[in-house]
Amino acid sequence: MTAGDYRWDAVEVLQYKEQGKTSFRDVTRQTLFRRPDMRGELRYFEIAAAGHSTLERHAHAHAVMVLRGAGKALVGEDVFSVKNFDLVTVPPLTWHQFRADPGSPLGFLCMVDAERDKPQLPDDRELERLRAIPTVAAFLAGTHS
Ligand code: MN
Repeated sequence: MTAGDYRWDAVEVLQYKEQGKTSFRDVTRQTLFRRPDMRGELRYFEIAAAGHSTLERHAHAHAVMVLRGAGKALVGEDVFSVKNFDLVTVPPLTWHQFRADPGSPLGFLCMVDAERDKPQLPDDRELERLRAIPTVAAFLAGTHS
């Protein structure tokens, strides 16, 4: 049941990740469904205006549906705008990051394997390769730690 304002009864609002290890800004996480008899889990993430998720990749895939606000997504070498009800697939081992627009939060459902590998972060060489792509460079330019 909903508790309103993108909160749900008995669902705790958590920090997105432990602080310090990766670069992200103003993101919360709520796990909506997780059961021992299911191999997937469904989370709701919300990035505050001008915030962003970690730039990362991993062997598991993500299936994302935007539920609130607007922003931009980087998937692989593609940057695109996202808004309510857009679906985004992040394939395995594909760099990805979500950024909320300056004046709007970005909230989305994310379906993922319950058991999954740890995200990898780009090294300097990989960042340099990504920044050589102008649209990706522009997307990454606003990154804060
Ligand atoms: Mn990810």
